[in-house]
Amino acid sequence: MGSLSRQLVKYAEKESTIPKGYSKVNIPYIIHLNSSGEFKGLVTTSDGANGKKDRGKKYDAPFVRKGIAVASCLLVDNAEYVLGAPTKKRRSEPAKPTFIALVKECAEATKEPTVEAICVFYKETLEKMEWDEVVTYLELPEDFDTSKKITFSVSGEIPFELNSVKAFWADNIGTKRGTETGICMVCGKDGALVSTIEKLVKGIRGGQASGLYLFSSNRPAFKHYGGGIPPICYVCSEKMMDGVNTLIANDNTRIHINKGTYLFWTKDGDESIVNLFTKPDPKKVRQLIKSVESGEEVHYEVNESDFYFLILAANGGRAVVRDWSDDFELQNVKENIARYFRYQEIKDTEPLTLKSLTLATIRFTGKMSEIEKVNQIVPDALFRFAIKGTPIPLYLARHVLDRIYTEKNKRIPQRQLALAKMILLSNTLPNKVVYERSELMTSLDEGRESTAYLCGRIFVTAERIQYAVNPNIKHTVRDRLFKRTAIYPKDGILRVLTEAEAHLKKLRRDKPGLAYTLDRELAELASKLSTAELKPMKFSLEEQLEFVLSCHYQRSHNFAMMKAAKVRKEEAQIIDEAQIIEEAA
Ligand SMILES: [Zn+2]
Repeated sequence: MGSLSRQLVKYAEKESTIPKGYSKVNIPYIIHLNSSGEFKGLVTTSDGANGKKDRGKKYDAPFVRKGIAVASCLLVDNAEYVLGAPTKKRRSEPAKPTFIALVKECAEATKEPTVEAICVFYKETLEKMEWDEVVTYLELPEDFDTSKKITFSVSGEIPFELNSVKAFWADNIGTKRGTETGICMVCGKDGALVSTIEKLVKGIRGGQASGLYLFSSNRPAFKHYGGGIPPICYVCSEKMMDGVNTLIANDNTRIHINKGTYLFWTKDGDESIVNLFTKPDPKKVRQLIKSVESGEEVHYEVNESDFYFLILAANGGRAVVRDWSDDFELQNVKENIARYFRYQEIKDTEPLTLKSLTLATIRFTGKMSEIEKVNQIVPDALFRFAIKGTPIPLYLARHVLDRIYTEKNKRIPQRQLALAKMILLSNTLPNKVVYERSELMTSLDEGRESTAYLCGRIFVTAERIQYAVNPNIKHTVRDRLFKRTAIYPKDGILRVLTEAEAHLKKLRRDKPGLAYTLDRELAELASKLSTAELKPMKFSLEEQLEFVLSCHYQRSHNFAMMKAAKVRKEEAQIIDEAQIIEEAA
């Protein structure tokens, strides 16, 4: 995590212009003063929304979460702090005097005339006033909200926007916070360390709009730090969170899938990587694969040590770190991404998005809201496979197989096939870079003679025989025996063959030519399958995946053959007609 924190801070420094200790803050109220600290009016700012929704204009302003070490925020706070509005909250230090003390401290340190004017304003008027006097004196509007932020402008200038004030706050907040001291693992300075990361993570799905606290995962590297936080100073912790929030806010560095937020970035800001997962361009995917397999350089050159990722998810009101990149773990990212695409290849189809692949594990009818049913372990596993090359856990095969068995689609959707194949190949060929064509299983492989593969082909041939005899049949072989055969091959395939034999008998009467062809095909496949190999009563998950894939490829193959035959027939007819016309003439 140390290295990742450093990378996040670096990223924030590159991408964001928010000063140290500052954050985006909505400030609806501004008290105007002149340069002598005299009250000139209170104005209400707007964020463009109307009525009660209006939260006031957004500023990069000093920010601090209360109740840790520093009691007040500099120059901007709610009415309790700025104006002394009553509160039910118990505080160890009264709010208004604390706020004023900090303004004074800032004026002394910076010698800024605008900040000094605010001190004069307090000294001359506001400091001694009771709340009801303040209300009258400032002519607070009736709908004045004491929980919202107020700041000052002096002769048209907002003091917290001055560089000297920014420097004062960064210094102040950096040294006064935290109870423990030590060396910050990011900046290397010896000083106060934070016990909590105060800045919230914003934009995580399934979390509150106001944000979530970042929390450790169950990974030991994080646990090591007891409270779940690595040794980090306040300023660096804030910067780190700026980095996280900037990554989340950018479409080019973040993918949301259900409750998971997947962030990735490179040192030089190459954003093309994310697009590979959100809208993979077939041409670019081919380029990437080609470059990996041939060793040539292409645009997608990623230096492994420059590539980082972080997976976050909302959980119980916190943002939990589910996984992140460690320097020593990330190797061969480019090879891994190429493999992620290689293993999902199916002839005549285009690469899928990470989201589509995830949808292969749920009942998906086209509504994107259905993605909520996805178990977060599925996108996590796909992501790890794509980036780290970690094989997709085999038990996830059940998720996609269950869908395939239940839906019994005439054509198994590409997402289900692709995921099935990725699970199978990521476990059987985990570290390959260059492949034999047949290893990739992108189309029907007539030379493949594994039991599961042959069973799939036999099943589909029997299906075809049944269809030839009775195209309108209600309960097809697929309806009745698909799942059974996929799991218990011996029982399933014997039944399928018995039924096929009965159908063939009938077909020989009606369409002897077709019956001959199909009979021969079935016999050839069945002869390769030794019944002895059917002994194990149950197919393993790998075998079930292979069975399902071979069913699909055999069906596609049959379909293509039938289409070609139809075309040939039509062409022959045209020739016949042409001949008749010719002869007539
Ligand atoms: Zn630091």
